Amino acid sequence: MAPNRVSPDIQAGRLPADQYADNFDDLHEPLDRHEAVVEADRCYFCYDAPCQTACPTSIDIPMFIRQISTGNANGAARTIFDQNILGGMCARVCPTETLCEEVCVREVAEGKPVKIGLLQRYATDHFLETAEQHPYERAAPTGKSVAIVGAGPAGLSCAHALARHGHDVTIFEAREKAGGLNEHGIAAYKTTENFAQREVDFITGIGGIAIRNGMALGRDVTLDDLVAGHDAVFLGMGLPGVNDLGLEGDDADNCIDAVAYIEKLRQTDDLSALPVGRNIVVIGGGMTAIDVAVQTKLLGAETVTICYRRGPEQMNASQYEQEVAQTHGVTIRHWLQPQALVRNDDGAVTGITLEYTAMNGKLSGTGETVTLDADQVFKAIGQKPVEGLFGGVSLDLSGGRIFTDDDRRTSHDKVWAGGDCIAGGEDLTVVAVEDGKIAAASIHKRLTG
Ligand SMILES: Cc1cc2nc3c(=O)[nH]c(=O)nc-3n(C[C@H](O)[C@H](O)[C@H](O)COP(=O)(O)OP(=O)(O)OC[C@H]3O[C@@H](n4cnc5c(N)ncnc54)[C@H](O)[C@@H]3O)c2cc1C
Ligand code: SF4
Repeated sequence: MAPNRVSPDIQAGRLPADQYADNFDDLHEPLDRHEAVVEADRCYFCYDAPCQTACPTSIDIPMFIRQISTGNANGAARTIFDQNILGGMCARVCPTETLCEEVCVREVAEGKPVKIGLLQRYATDHFLETAEQHPYERAAPTGKSVAIVGAGPAGLSCAHALARHGHDVTIFEAREKAGGLNEHGIAAYKTTENFAQREVDFITGIGGIAIRNGMALGRDVTLDDLVAGHDAVFLGMGLPGVNDLGLEGDDADNCIDAVAYIEKLRQTDDLSALPVGRNIVVIGGGMTAIDVAVQTKLLGAETVTICYRRGPEQMNASQYEQEVAQTHGVTIRHWLQPQALVRNDDGAVTGITLEYTAMNGKLSGTGETVTLDADQVFKAIGQKPVEGLFGGVSLDLSGGRIFTDDDRRTSHDKVWAGGDCIAGGEDLTVVAVEDGKIAAASIHKRLTG
């Protein structure tokens, strides 16, 4: 450690005041009209398009790209919304490099896919900026009511589809704002200009959806109440818990849950007021690890190091996400697992000792260690369900998450579930949207016989 330095060194305002807005601006510049048409013309409009199969919401990608190329951006948006009402957010956050763009014929042939995500953003932004009406009308009221827990992508997608069928939807949302991780978790530079709230307003603009903020299942309302008071219930509360490192001292103030820190970052009006360490160590290998690492660097941290216990291929973050981190000056170190926190007399963390790992049939420590200075250690080793939310109602679980069938029905006759809280999913926004859509179709079928 450098001599005479405060330890831990955690400060707000590390950057000149005008640099924050630049640093947190859009990661990818949106396409203008001319760029969108030129990019759309690169599409071969494949029959049996592999991109459409790779999209979890099965958007008719060749169709919407053709609509853009003929100057019909709002028609393209409508094609997108037909399958994915959160197409605007998905255009910003989908890891397209492992979904639709990975299988684009131009990617396979030339290593340069059609920019499907950016084209999707062009069309959906155009619609939100220019259309005067919601793209869909509600069907006649059915008199049926559905309770939804959680106003994240899964809950919103389910709510919209049900409202469209004429059912009345009430969303019970624990937080004061709707949007789920779109509003509280996704990296700030992926969703700028309050897009998450604009999208919530767009979705609820169909009518028939009431959001009751500050209402948490298990605290303010029970699953029994919801089942008794509604014709069906959809659970979309994500994974509100986080995993600890399991090391002595990991409850120190500067050993921080990465998701909670990102939430603060997303909600602050003044990024320069957010304290950030000089030297940061992030433990984890997924999107959360990448996002907290890049954003602390953008807040002015001097060194940011991600430590992951396996190799680059095993990281949940895609190759592209890893490159985003590296081009922002983040160091990624592989084959390291946390062994002990170094703490000062006040209990604050000042460093972390990690053990090298190797695969010998199974992952194990080699006994060799390294200690890194750390003013803040971020825990990004996965989220977990909160237990005991369902009161007296019994739901089958699998690996701690809710078990559902292909129609997203749980083991309870009146309860469906989707998004991160169910077993077997991929923990992606677009997958949560699809879950909500599938559940809504199944609920509608049940309610209308
Ligand atoms: C830091 C981070 C970055 C990510 N980045 C990306 C990305 O770039 N691209 C991508 O595709 N995916 C990303 N993901 C994953 C993606 O955000 C999730 O898969 C997606 O949001 C899941 O949607 P959901 O509706 O299931 O849950 P959530 O988005 O978590 O929404 C759940 C909602 O339920 C509410 N809730 C929780 N408990 C209760 C309760 N007891 N009662 C009532 N309401 C409750 C919550 O407040 C929340 O609003 C990221 C995740 C994290 C943590
Ligand atoms: S929703 Fe995501 S995966 Fe599907 S086409 Fe759009 S960007 Fe690609």
